[in-house]
Amino acid sequence: MVKFAKRAGLVAPSMTLAITEQANKLKAEGINVVNFGIGEPDFNTPQYIIDAALKAMEKGMTKYTAVAGTIDLRRAICDKLKSENNLSYTPEQIVVSNGAKQSLYNALQILVDEGDEVILVAPYWLSYPDLVKLCGGVCVVIHTDESKGFRIEPEEIRKAITPRTKAIILNSPNNPTGTVYSREELEAIAKVFVQTDIAIISDEIYEKLVYNGTSHSSIAEFPNMYEKTFVINGMSKAFAMTGWRIGYAAAPTAEAAKKMSGIQSHETSNANSIAQYASAAALRDSSAIQYMVDEFAKRRKTMIAELKNNNIECIESDGAFYTMVKVKSLFGKTYKGIPVTSALDIASLLIKEAAVAVVPCESFGADSFIRLSYALGEDDIKEGVRRIADLFRKIV
Ligand code: PLP
Repeated sequence: MVKFAKRAGLVAPSMTLAITEQANKLKAEGINVVNFGIGEPDFNTPQYIIDAALKAMEKGMTKYTAVAGTIDLRRAICDKLKSENNLSYTPEQIVVSNGAKQSLYNALQILVDEGDEVILVAPYWLSYPDLVKLCGGVCVVIHTDESKGFRIEPEEIRKAITPRTKAIILNSPNNPTGTVYSREELEAIAKVFVQTDIAIISDEIYEKLVYNGTSHSSIAEFPNMYEKTFVINGMSKAFAMTGWRIGYAAAPTAEAAKKMSGIQSHETSNANSIAQYASAAALRDSSAIQYMVDEFAKRRKTMIAELKNNNIECIESDGAFYTMVKVKSLFGKTYKGIPVTSALDIASLLIKEAAVAVVPCESFGADSFIRLSYALGEDDIKEGVRRIADLFRKIV
C-alpha cells in the first residue's frame, strides 16, 4: 500500500464541481434539470476571439511560449490595466497562468511560509482556504453578514492582523455574495494596510460583471497600495472563456513576477499558446462583451423578482452572476419526515426531489445560504425558482 503525504488529505474536493456532476448525471438520464449551480457564463466565447485562436493555429503559434506568457499578451494586459484600471505595469510584472486559480496559487506560493496567516473574508470563494492550506498557511477568517451587505469594516481587519499575517485575499465583486465594494469602502480598507508589509491579493475576476449603476475599482489604485498588491484577473468570466484557462497576475515588482513564473515553470510551464493569442485579441476589444453583461443584468432582475414573488429571502447584490438565498429558517424542519439541518441538506433535496442544482454555501463560509447562479436563460430561471418555492413549501 502506498502512503500518502499529509498534503493529499488537506484539501476537500470542490463542492461546486460535485453538484455539477450530479446535475449532469441526471441530465444524461433525460431528466430536465435546472442548473443554478454553474459558475460560468452559458454563452459561447465571442466569435472574434474564436477567430483569433484559429488564426493563431494557422500561423503556427502552437509552440511553447515564455513561462510568463507571450510578450504580446502581457502588453495587452498592461494596456488593459492602464486604460481600464488606471494602473501602470510593465510586461515584466505580468505572469499569465492556467486560469486565475493558478495566478492565486502562484502568489500564495511566493508569499506564504509554513504557519503564516492569510486573512479571508467570509463568504469567500471556496478555493481560497484550500489554496492557502496547500502553501502551509493558516486561514484567519473574518465573517461578514447580510445586514451590512457582506461588507467588511476596516476595524474588523485591524483586529484580525497579528505578527504572523502575511496576506489578505480580497474579492470584489465577490463570489458567492455578489458584493461590489465602492471606491470609498476600498479606500478605507486600504488605509489599514498603509503601515504594514502585508500583501494584498486582489481577486478581480468578476470586475466586468457589475450592475445597478455600480462600478469596479482596484485597491491597487490607492496610495501605498500598488507596492503591496497582486492584482489577479482572467478571461474566464467576462469573456466566457472558462475552458481556455487563461488568468493573470500583475505583481508589485518584476522580482515578484519572476518568482511566480519560477514556481510556474516547474509546475505547468506556459499557459496554452493558442489561448494566449486569442486572449490578447479579446482584451484589445473588450467592448465586444457588453451584450453578455447586459443579459446578466436582465437575468439578475428576473431572478430577484421571481424569488421575491415567491417569498424566498435573497440577497440583492450588484455583481458577478450569483444570488444568495437564505435558508436558515428551514433548518430544524422536515421534508416528508426527513430532517433538514443544513444548506447541504437543502441542496441535496433540491437536486433529488426537484431536479434543481444549487450550491450549498458551507464551503464558502456561509452556512445559512445556498447560492444560485443566474448564468442561465430567463425561462429556466423562472421554472427553477418555481420548483424551489414548491419544495420549500413542503418543508414544515
Ligand atoms: N476567483 C473567483 C472568485 C472565482 O469565482 C473563480 C472561478 O470560479 C476563479 C477565481 C478562478 O477562475 P479561473 O481559474 O477560471 O480563471
